[in-house]
Amino acid sequence: MAEKTDIRALSKEALRDFFVAHNMKAFRGNQVYEWLWNKGAHNFESMTNISKDTRNFLTEHFVINHIEVDDMQQSTDGTIKNAIRLHDGLVVESVFIPTPTRTTACVSSQVGCSLNCTFCATARLKKMRNLNPDEIYDQVVAIDRQSRLYKGHKLNNIVFMGMGEPLLNYKNVLKSIEMITSEEGLGMSPRRITLSTVGLHKMIKKLADDEVKFNLAVSLHSAIDEVRSQMMPINDKSNLEDLLDSLQYWYAKTKRVITFEYVVWKGINDKKKDIDALVAYCKKVPSKVNLIEYNAIEEDGFVQADPAAITYYQRELERNNITVNIRHSRGKDIDAACGQLANKTAV
Ligand code: SAH
Repeated sequence: MAEKTDIRALSKEALRDFFVAHNMKAFRGNQVYEWLWNKGAHNFESMTNISKDTRNFLTEHFVINHIEVDDMQQSTDGTIKNAIRLHDGLVVESVFIPTPTRTTACVSSQVGCSLNCTFCATARLKKMRNLNPDEIYDQVVAIDRQSRLYKGHKLNNIVFMGMGEPLLNYKNVLKSIEMITSEEGLGMSPRRITLSTVGLHKMIKKLADDEVKFNLAVSLHSAIDEVRSQMMPINDKSNLEDLLDSLQYWYAKTKRVITFEYVVWKGINDKKKDIDALVAYCKKVPSKVNLIEYNAIEEDGFVQADPAAITYYQRELERNNITVNIRHSRGKDIDAACGQLANKTAV
């Protein structure tokens, strides 16, 4: 028998059409849609306002794929790393990051990654597949539950900074955000969502054209092409000039400031010329800089720069009126910090 369709791959309109095509009322489609997204039903049985016959009929045609939180590891700082098992057995990771005032979900967009950034553990896993919209959405639902359970309030922020490159899974990521922000889903504000990318210039322009309402972060790490290309091979295809052009386009359309993520490594980008290049780059487009602590991954040869270099970066950026934040790692003891997601515990 042919494999049944995952019902959550259907839009609301498609679901309404399905009911009409089978001589039932279109509004049944709305009801089922609400069960699937807003109420998070994992089986047709639980859809109590749908008749038994209709539920059986749906079971004959569809499945409801859903994720399982396979393993939870809690850091001494309260961060929780979730190993998420997908319906086909593959595993991704997502992270719950609490602070005293708010909670953040860091979610994955692909199983593995194809971009080969030399300093990132996820790059060691080859890309296996894109996540479906419901698989991204369900990670957020799982972390929202953790937020309510451990902190007594709903999830505040979402960052697409887990495994994978969100802009290489464009359609599904945008669909998941549509559901996260829609009243039929989680009803969260898009302003509380940040998508992080290696900086694929064509896709950044597409985001601007599509008038998305969420925030954009770019993993920059160097404003000098030769240095950046060494660490991020994608820079050979989407270089700093193209990137800047797309970011200026983004800002012109959205009026939203871009966040640059930036790690300072000893002997790689810790010199005056590196800082000057970053300052000059930031001046060309409204932006702020997050200096991220380096999380060592095995045998990669990278070493976090001396504190003096970080202070120098901070001082020079501030002197040039560029907002800079120093981001200390969360969840390092359980390999949950930036660039450490690599399914180490996956069974
Ligand atoms: N592919 C997207 C989404 C992943 S976000 C992107 O690159 O933006 C993960 C963030 O962690 C990126 O900013 C990445 O550059 C950073 N990162 C990767 N490995 C790291 C490491 N070992 N230490 C600190 N940050 C790292």
